[in-house]
Amino acid sequence: MRYIEPHAHMVSRTMDDYQAMAMAGCRAICEPAFWAGFDRSSVAGFYDYFCQLTEHEPKRAARYHIAHYSWICINPKEAEDPQFAREVINIIPEFLKQENVLGVGEIGLNKNSKNEAAIFEEQVQLALDHNQLILIHTPHLEDKFKGTKLTIDMLRQFGDIDPGRVMIDHVEEHTIKMVLDAGFWGGITLYPESKCTPPRAVDMLERYGDSNRLWMNSACDWGVSDPLALPKAILELRKRGFDEATIDRFVYQNPVKFMQQSGIRFLPDA
Ligand SMILES: [Zn+2]
Repeated sequence: MRYIEPHAHMVSRTMDDYQAMAMAGCRAICEPAFWAGFDRSSVAGFYDYFCQLTEHEPKRAARYHIAHYSWICINPKEAEDPQFAREVINIIPEFLKQENVLGVGEIGLNKNSKNEAAIFEEQVQLALDHNQLILIHTPHLEDKFKGTKLTIDMLRQFGDIDPGRVMIDHVEEHTIKMVLDAGFWGGITLYPESKCTPPRAVDMLERYGDSNRLWMNSACDWGVSDPLALPKAILELRKRGFDEATIDRFVYQNPVKFMQQSGIRFLPDA
């Protein structure tokens, strides 16, 4: 079955993962810029990472005929020093012009701090100035509800923002409704440990799946995570009796619909 992995940190994965994803039906991978597991010490460190995302990773994906797209930003974990963060933000526009870049992301909050919030707002403005889609990371565990609410409140201050062009990722049972009710897109992240299992994700889809503004992703990275989480969720959907057309909407058509708003040629044959 065809599917799109809309959120994966492939720089941390091996070619075996690409191969397994291709064999499972993956047609495209979208890779947000995020924390690398350590803090980078210079703007040049970010520049090299953005080149890795936009030039080198697409070549690895192409070996298995998977299209690769990326999102560019400075992540909240490295946004605690606003001056440094602004120097990184200054190099972002040249990457936003590239034909395989979907927008600004994954921005957001991690510890819900003041500096994180300031850099978040500056990057939302950057996205609006450059007519870019926005991908938002919401904090994990006990900060999730508060962080998601804060994020939505901050977004609402931008009068000209179109919520249909903003994806709020890592929603859970207690945040999905506020995201969808506010008109944003919601991402359900499948994680073997800290986040959501396929049965929990399918419970959420049973409740909210008619919204047409939902997708699922693995958010696989260098930590404990599963690049095949999405095909496993497809098996769970089948087990629960979802028909193939509905499954295709969740795992393929919805991500295509969101990403095609980016203005770049996202899977032009889809
Ligand atoms: Zn991520």
